[in-house]
Amino acid sequence: MAVTVTAYPRRSTELDDGTELWNWAGNATLGRSAALSSPGTEEELRAAVTSGGGRLRLIGSRMSSGRMLRAAAEGDRLLDTRRLRGLLSAGPDTATFAGGTPLQEVYDVLSASGRVLPSSPGVIASQTLAGALATGTHGQGLRQGSIADAALGIRMVLADGSVAEFDRDHPSFGAVQLGLGVLGAVSAVTLQTVPSPVYSCHKDAVSADDLGTRLTAWNRENALSKAWWFPGENLVHVWTAQEAGPAEARAYRDGGGQLVTRAETSDAMNRTIDATLTNMRGDTRITDVNGKPYRTVNRFKDFSDVTGDVYQVFCRGIATPQINVEIAVPLARVDDVVTVLKEWHARTNPHMHYPVILRCTGPSSAWLSPAHEQETCYFGFVVYYAEDGTLSAGGMDFLRAVEEVLAVEGGRPHWGKYFEEPLYDWPALYPRWDDFRRVRDQLDPQHRFANTFTDALFA
Ligand SMILES: Cc1cc2nc3c(=O)[nH]c(=O)nc-3n(C[C@H](O)[C@H](O)[C@H](O)COP(=O)(O)OP(=O)(O)OC[C@H]3O[C@@H](n4cnc5c(N)ncnc54)[C@H](O)[C@@H]3O)c2cc1C
Repeated sequence: MAVTVTAYPRRSTELDDGTELWNWAGNATLGRSAALSSPGTEEELRAAVTSGGGRLRLIGSRMSSGRMLRAAAEGDRLLDTRRLRGLLSAGPDTATFAGGTPLQEVYDVLSASGRVLPSSPGVIASQTLAGALATGTHGQGLRQGSIADAALGIRMVLADGSVAEFDRDHPSFGAVQLGLGVLGAVSAVTLQTVPSPVYSCHKDAVSADDLGTRLTAWNRENALSKAWWFPGENLVHVWTAQEAGPAEARAYRDGGGQLVTRAETSDAMNRTIDATLTNMRGDTRITDVNGKPYRTVNRFKDFSDVTGDVYQVFCRGIATPQINVEIAVPLARVDDVVTVLKEWHARTNPHMHYPVILRCTGPSSAWLSPAHEQETCYFGFVVYYAEDGTLSAGGMDFLRAVEEVLAVEGGRPHWGKYFEEPLYDWPALYPRWDDFRRVRDQLDPQHRFANTFTDALFA
């Protein structure tokens, strides 16, 4: 298949004069700052949608790629929903938050009453709730779907200014759950909540010889699991978490609910991490030895088991500007796909900037979720920006090549990350693609919530 490669954009290191709005990574302008509205109430959101012409693009914490967020043309507007924030109401096992609430605030509010979402978190929590839903943001754990799968109800301001509510029985709920920002402006989300378990997380370094089968086993046999694969070293760093036993849970509570880190450490990852750090230093040329990209792997050195809640154990990412690519394949095919990747790696010996991140989730009911109705394994790849805003050529070559390999295997890309759109046949990948388009035509007949990227996607 001939592929038109969209260059991963360089990051701007110029001082921002405030006339243009940038995405979080600083690698794309989204539109003129003057085109931005930041409504603070649902009423103001309705007014912002209906007043003025042009098309509208919704933005949250702007952590997605620029093309996903950019206003289409001069005269089009950007609606930032982050002032629509906070807990609106709570029941015994539900909580309703405004759409622009940062996930960290959602987690903090729930944790304060000993509750969590039934979906485990991603590595960071600075995304907005609506932004996370719109792109299928997920964590790890086969017994859970994406964050959108914790939604019981979604309230949206539609293009005509009306307010629509969707619950799980609504025939269009599966579309609204993961809407890519093209259906309407999410003003509130009601989430299911469950009691917060205390987890004991065991960490290990193992050979990658049987990775395909072991990956499935780690995920089947544990409540939560995450792994980092270093193909060059044939090594995997794996975390497996189970609900803590009574003694461990007591120790955690006696410690005031702070993460408990076991004293025994293992140096089994140290040599591999040193080799990875050498590659990252060569690629990023960041001189600070404690620089953020380095800290993301340095913590694997001298690792030890921990006990804590799901956010303390898994939501520990260090957000640093990057190009991230994440491709999902059905869990049932993971063994074959790992074999294909191993063969490709052995044949091409690609430059590895960072290990492959492996996370599995249960099926998602969202029609456009990469995990739609099937247990899924996500293969994640990251290349961090250098200090001068460039990306290493080797890192970019790796990302392009590995995405092609996984696209051929039927992979579905994460909507909030970077992907080469021409690699994918969307209606073939998503059985409900045309149903989603029909819902879009009903809710936003003039396609006002759109930009050049979504025009091409749904052309
Ligand atoms: C450092 C980093 C770490 C990440 N870690 C993970 C991870 O662990 N797991 C994972 O799955 N993903 C991860 N992501 C991807 C991230 O979760 C998504 O890009 C997410 O969409 C970002 O949320 P946001 O608030 O920044 O949304 P934005 O990027 O601002 O917007 C994303 C989409 O949501 C739409 N949108 C925003 N607000 C609204 C609204 N109110 N109503 C309707 N639509 C709206 C936008 O139009 C756009 O289509 C990571 C990204 C980065 C940069």
